[in-house]
Amino acid sequence: MNPAFRFTLEARDGRARSGRLATTRGEIRTPAFMPVGTAATVKAMLPESVAATGADILLGNTYHLMLRPGAEQIAALGGLHRFMNWGGPILTDSGGYQVMSLTDLRKMTEDGVRFRSHIDGSEHWLTPERSMEIQRLLGSDIVMAFDECTPFPCTREQAAASMRLSMRWAERSKAAFGAPERQALFGIQQGSTHPALRQESADRLREIGFDGYAIGGLAVGEGQAVMFEVLDFAPDMLPEDRPRYLMGVGKPADLLGAVARGVDMFDCVLPTRSGRTGQAFTRRGVVNIKNARHAADPRPLDADCTCPACAGYSRAYLHHVFKAGEIVSSMLLSWHNLHYYQELMAGIRRAIGAGGLAGFAEATQARWAAGDIAPL
Ligand SMILES: [Zn+2]
Repeated sequence: MNPAFRFTLEARDGRARSGRLATTRGEIRTPAFMPVGTAATVKAMLPESVAATGADILLGNTYHLMLRPGAEQIAALGGLHRFMNWGGPILTDSGGYQVMSLTDLRKMTEDGVRFRSHIDGSEHWLTPERSMEIQRLLGSDIVMAFDECTPFPCTREQAAASMRLSMRWAERSKAAFGAPERQALFGIQQGSTHPALRQESADRLREIGFDGYAIGGLAVGEGQAVMFEVLDFAPDMLPEDRPRYLMGVGKPADLLGAVARGVDMFDCVLPTRSGRTGQAFTRRGVVNIKNARHAADPRPLDADCTCPACAGYSRAYLHHVFKAGEIVSSMLLSWHNLHYYQELMAGIRRAIGAGGLAGFAEATQARWAAGDIAPL
């Protein structure tokens, strides 16, 4: 592991772990949730607001930043941290996931992927080497290997071929990454839902050697039950003493279940995207603020939440600004949702430390199931 990075496991509870990942820009408490700052901003949030929710690290998207404003441009402006005014750690993805989702606009070969920009149709190449170069220009703290996110469903043959391509790309990513002082490189396990393919992928990644390991190819439409089946075996195939990152997950219940299966890091657009569509995650489950029942309700969204949306505003106000299309609606609900996610992660970390994760998960799920407070 890069000496500038140190992963310390502090407690275990069943297969769940809690600990700290030290980087040159600060410490990440694990299990950790990383808000997504796609285009050098966590939508509707200032960086200081994101920090106030308790986030230790953000995620940036290589695909979006390489197209606009461009990695070279960001490097010339002092790197992604200075550009977006976030001093803490940043993880960047490899661009692979977004490029693969451009099914009509891309052509994939052994070398990499040629694609057209969704913004202006201009043509670009993304290869393991170019992805490493872009992430170096951005200056992120955690760099992801370039891989193909295997679609779901697919045949076993497709899953095997896709995983083996990703492993060849992982090797090229490692070679192109070199040995920078301030960056760590994570490899990505593929293999769809097949234990033997997941094992082959984990073995290959271990031989190449990475600072951390991600579990890829999940949260792609397989559903929670199948995802948990894969997580019953996939995390344990990865090195015990390195962080394990489940990409693109998820709903609060997904986080609880994945932590219990040995995952340390997560990212998802759900809290911010839902915030912009009037959906709030609370201790009492999901609340749709656009529902007419909130129109005259003077009570806060969640009486036990200390975020600005709950501390200063009524459900009636939050309903009104959503209906009126006011920008503050996205700001307040995004803040609340990120705050709730970080509180959930803090609760999970405390529970693991106390050896009580199962009880914590049960109580949390019972409150979600009981539902929202009764209408007035
Ligand atoms: Zn709140």
